[in-house]
Amino acid sequence: MAGLTLVDPCAGEPFAEVPAVSAADVDAAVAAAAKAGTDWSRVPIAERAGVLRRAADELDRRRADLVEAITMPLGLPRRLVPGVQLASALGTLRSTAELAERMAEEEVVGNSYVRREPAGVVAAITPWNYPLMQSVNKVAPALVAGCPVLLKPSELTPLDAFVLAEALAVAGLPEGVLRVLPGTGREAGRALAGHPGVDVVSFTGSTEVGRQVAALAAATVTRALLELGGKSASILLDDADVAAAVAHCARTVIVNSGQTCTALTRLLVPRSRLAEAEECAVAALSAARPGHRDDPAADLGPVISARQRDTVEGHILAGTAAGARPITGGPGAPEGLDRGFYVRPTVFTGVDPRMAIAQQEIFGPVLVIIAHDGDDDAVRIADGTPYGLSGAVWSGDVQRALRVARRLRTGQVSVNGGPFNPVAPFGGYKQSGIGREKGLYGIEEFTELKAIQMPLSEEIS
Ligand code: NAD
Repeated sequence: MAGLTLVDPCAGEPFAEVPAVSAADVDAAVAAAAKAGTDWSRVPIAERAGVLRRAADELDRRRADLVEAITMPLGLPRRLVPGVQLASALGTLRSTAELAERMAEEEVVGNSYVRREPAGVVAAITPWNYPLMQSVNKVAPALVAGCPVLLKPSELTPLDAFVLAEALAVAGLPEGVLRVLPGTGREAGRALAGHPGVDVVSFTGSTEVGRQVAALAAATVTRALLELGGKSASILLDDADVAAAVAHCARTVIVNSGQTCTALTRLLVPRSRLAEAEECAVAALSAARPGHRDDPAADLGPVISARQRDTVEGHILAGTAAGARPITGGPGAPEGLDRGFYVRPTVFTGVDPRMAIAQQEIFGPVLVIIAHDGDDDAVRIADGTPYGLSGAVWSGDVQRALRVARRLRTGQVSVNGGPFNPVAPFGGYKQSGIGREKGLYGIEEFTELKAIQMPLSEEIS
């Protein structure tokens, strides 16, 4: 069995080896999952929900293990892991359990019983940026819907998936209902996405790989749920509280070193208020301190890999070459951080919305400021990328901000800093994806609808 070499991004050196599964292993795992899934689908939903709740309690007890499993391959400062990575994952396990109990498994529509049945074997393929949360976003709703799951975590961050599986086993999940398949995308990922025994492929990752996954799944007419990239805009209307809006936006670009699909990486500012916004953005990003996972003063760690660092730097160089003006940050390692994959939090202004730095997902702590000429222009620019994952609108008049939010072609919008809602649907318009995670919507994605027509002579209720 070939292995995966895990690299510590704070040091730029390998720290662990994990076995990698082959395409043949995937074959065997799909067959075993189908078998285990039959019994699991018959377990009452309240019992399935109980497993999730107990698993969340067990993960709470194993926080120290989770912090290590996440920080070692990701590099996020240790003190930030619980807030940035664990809270939402554990919360989602619990909220999914609660919502499942409210899901109508069967309802009457005219002369039909309309049933929601488990969709079958689920292949969950996840990225490295929020590894535990991405796994939970798929595993929790799929399990509670009654499906067996094959989880292929990113080859860069596979460790926490094993802790999740152990916690679910302790919580009473029968053997074989969840199996972790560490491996590469090229081998294990492809084998899962194109496997005829898989009923739902739930993928989170880049738009480029999402297209390949959708094509593989299409060959067997398998449902593909895709959570893909983003290039989200924060729109400041002319009466916005600029300081509050820019601080909110900057936080999303700094957290997790900018490696967040919903990061608000484009700041759309009325031309008349550009100087004010630039000043606030420079203050926020220049104050954000990159550092080692053990540095208690670090606000962000390195990016995940040498390749990712080179990609981010490539964007910074290309943005400058295209005529945009970096007003803080720039290429090269931050002072004193020559080992590891660190980048400098960077703000560009003078950005044309057609530039590559305004169109492409950079996945690093890089913010671009774009001037707009009023509400219509701002909406046009915000919607003017291939993506539609998230967004924000700020105005002194909350109803005016809401009117603009309703016009945007994006899956999520925060009005005046409205916080993330873990039970609201999450997903993308356009090339940001297909389908929704979170809440009841996320559970329903793992069900099939069946209509049973009864004779009209029969009274049904
Ligand atoms: P990636 O697309 O490189 O990899 C994601 C997963 O797909 C990994 O497990 C990988 O092994 C697997 N994979 C790679 N090639 C494959 C193939 N040909 N067939 C099947 N599987 C394959 O993404 P990444 O670099 O791990 O993550 C970063 C990306 O994820 C960013 O674009 C980010 O925006 C996106 N993301 C989206 C969301 C969302 O909810 N919309 C959330 C987090 C991250």
